[in-house]
This record gives sequence, C-alpha cells and structure tokens, in this order.
Amino acid sequence: MEIAKGVHLIETFANCAIFSDGRLVLVDTSVDDGAKDIFSWLRKNGHAPGDISSVIVTHTHPDHVLGLAAVKARAPGAKVAAGKDDADYVARTKVYPGPPGPQKHDAVPVDVRLEDGQTYEGFLVIHTPGHTPGHTSLLDKERKILVAGDALNTEKGLGPMPDQYNIDPKQHRQSIKKLANFEFETVIVGHGKPILKGGGAQVKAVAAKL
Ligand SMILES: [Zn+2]
Repeated sequence: MEIAKGVHLIETFANCAIFSDGRLVLVDTSVDDGAKDIFSWLRKNGHAPGDISSVIVTHTHPDHVLGLAAVKARAPGAKVAAGKDDADYVARTKVYPGPPGPQKHDAVPVDVRLEDGQTYEGFLVIHTPGHTPGHTSLLDKERKILVAGDALNTEKGLGPMPDQYNIDPKQHRQSIKKLANFEFETVIVGHGKPILKGGGAQVKAVAAKL
C-alpha cells in the first residue's frame, strides 16, 4: 500500500514501512523470519535488497524483528539501527525482561544506537519508551509523516497498545503525550491502518484523555 509518494506500507502481522523517496530505508522487518513480503516488494519495485541503506527497528518485539536476520543476510551493507535502550535486546546481548518474554529471533548486531532528538536517515528520532524500554518513533518533519511503531495503535480506533504487551503502561501513555507535541499529518503504526490526514490533531485529542 502506497501511503504517500515513495512511502509504502507492507501489511504483515505487524506493518513494515519502506521509504523509497530518494533513500531506501526499511522500518521494521515483520514476523516472518524469511521476510518474504519485504523481498517480494523490493523485487516488484525494481530494488535489490543490497540497495537498503538502513533497517530501523522501532522495538525489539518478535513481530518487528523476526525478519531482521534474513534482511541483513541479503543486505549486508545496510546499517541496523534501534533505540539505544532496545539495542541490546535486538542484538540479544541481554535477555528481554518484558512481555511477551525472552527474544527468540536470530541475533543481529545493532550498528546505530539511536538517541532521542538525533536525526537519522532524514528522520527525527523520538524516544517513546513504555511499550518496550527503548521503543523509538520516527518523524519525517518535511513530509509530516510519523512512524509510531507500537507507541500507538489503530486497530480499535487510535489509542495505546493493549497493556498486556507494554512493559510500562504508564510510561507508554507518557510517550503518547510526548508524540502529541510534534507536528505531522500521516501516522503509520505497527498494528492497524495508517492515518493519512489529520494525524497530529487525532493524537493530540487521544493524548488529552490519557
Ligand atoms: Zn510491540
């Protein structure tokens, strides 16, 4: 699904986003350890996996990282980036202490430990902890697109993720309030449909009720 020119959503169990607007950046890698839907999208759209410059992981949950090792195997030059407080879980140098339990994905070293407020691949990095300790959202300020990962959910209307998946539900809500301070129109989430217009106002309205 093309959300905006050069911005594509690959709808697997958890959504992955591909930015092919002058960069080739993959955000999240699906629950499929073969990452088949990602490779098939690349093939159909004339890109080789080796063209990917970065794979940015919003957080360490299995439905976002299970495909990472397969992607990295076919895109060895791609940098793997994750929030600094999730990087050790993605790399499996620490055992993940929250739901849904310890990691099972193949370990992949993290090249870039993303810090709150830095710019990476054209995105402002926004640390949005609570769903996981190092959950990271990405804001393309120029294009007004927020990639919220599991900092937000739209499956039953816009709101928090179900708390059974959050390591710190209170902090998760604080992160939604934090996101409400930024300007954007489009919101891409890990689970549920994207919001194509008026996303910033909708997030503000939800945050005000938390
Ligand atoms: Zn998650």
